[in-house]
Amino acid sequence: MRIDTRGRVRQSLGLVVGQCRRAVGAAAGGRHRHWYALGLGSAVSLGMLLLVPTLASAVGGEPRASIETTAMPLPPPSPQPDRSAASSASVEWTQVTIAPGQTMGDVFTDLGLSSRVLHELLQDRELKQRLTRIRAGERFAFDIPEEGVLRALLYDRDEASRVRLALNPDGTLEQDVLERPMQRRVLSGTGRITRSLFADGEDAGLSVQVILELAKVFGYDIDFAQDLREGDAFSVVYEEVYREGERLRSGDILAASFVNQGRRFTAYRYVFPDGRVEYFDAEGRPMKKGFLRMPIEFARLSSRFNPNRRHPVLGTVRAHRGVDYAAATGTPIMAAGDGRISFIGTQRGYGRTIILDHGNGITTLYAHMSRFGRFGRGARVRQGDVIGHVGATGLASGPHLHYEFRIKGVHRDPLKVTFPKPQPLPQTELARFHAQTQPWLARIDLLEGRQLAAR
Ligand SMILES: [Zn+2]
Repeated sequence: MRIDTRGRVRQSLGLVVGQCRRAVGAAAGGRHRHWYALGLGSAVSLGMLLLVPTLASAVGGEPRASIETTAMPLPPPSPQPDRSAASSASVEWTQVTIAPGQTMGDVFTDLGLSSRVLHELLQDRELKQRLTRIRAGERFAFDIPEEGVLRALLYDRDEASRVRLALNPDGTLEQDVLERPMQRRVLSGTGRITRSLFADGEDAGLSVQVILELAKVFGYDIDFAQDLREGDAFSVVYEEVYREGERLRSGDILAASFVNQGRRFTAYRYVFPDGRVEYFDAEGRPMKKGFLRMPIEFARLSSRFNPNRRHPVLGTVRAHRGVDYAAATGTPIMAAGDGRISFIGTQRGYGRTIILDHGNGITTLYAHMSRFGRFGRGARVRQGDVIGHVGATGLASGPHLHYEFRIKGVHRDPLKVTFPKPQPLPQTELARFHAQTQPWLARIDLLEGRQLAAR
């Protein structure tokens, strides 16, 4: 069985799948209606845009009076804008939503348009990029005044601009870009864990994206698969992106706090002068640590570090010198930290195994893989790189990742090993960090105050 990331998230965080699907479905429906409305609206607004030059030339420049006094005939209005304005007002757009695996060639065939027309469009570099790299769910609109004739094409260049491409009878292309004003609004939500991060996050008004981002930001400190407790509390300040007054999607988390089993964690988004974005705690220490809490996303901890465990396959008492995470075969396994592959191959009992050397005497081991990633022996890997996939090779009762953590050759419990706190930002950067995050710090305090008052 193949489970997508979201499926796994829902599963391990205890969300009722039906509930989540409802939310996602509603969001998709919203987007659809939104696009549809814009599709109709833009024909009108593009018409307006096209009218603007005509109006400008009529009211601006030489006043009409001067033309009259010179007794010269008024020049005939340029036929171009008037014709387009008239045609765009009466356009009936045929909207197409790209299906999985569908190419623009398929779309043209379905619409009864000749592949020669598409071929001509593909001579343009930007169009080639846009029309050959299409994804399922994307929408295009076609103006087909009569069978086999493509008069105009409407597509989104990016989320802030829409292009109307007119195909003139003489074979030339004409492009109008409609800039769509984007706004960012800052919202906040606060809640308490009663059922699951997903259910309680949604109750607090957070979107699925914001909840996933929240789990990611605190993922180095909190293991959401097993550390979450009833009564834990979260507060989040985040952005929502609006386009032309309608909600488009969630933006970034600006600040958040999470109280897990009485321990309070905070995170603030910081934009470096070079545009890089990272999250830091209130003292300016990075949220990102040297090692991931789990080298696998949202899996279930199925067996702990235990020196006296009875082996599930052999039945004998054998130390379990690592932890096991049960997950579907094929689930990506990530490098827990930056390092170098010191062993890749098959080990008795462990099946397909990788050992990473992280320097300072620290090594990590990943066993029972179904297959390896793209890295070979000696390769440098970065934290989060996919080094292999979950499997059941070697002695394994089912697909899982067996993960070991060694310091100077001694096995340590990966769930308990601690590291010194990372260094905070340097002084000059720290001042900038505090100035940037001050408003969000105040807002988080306010939200937490409200949270306490509601208790
Ligand atoms: Zn194990």
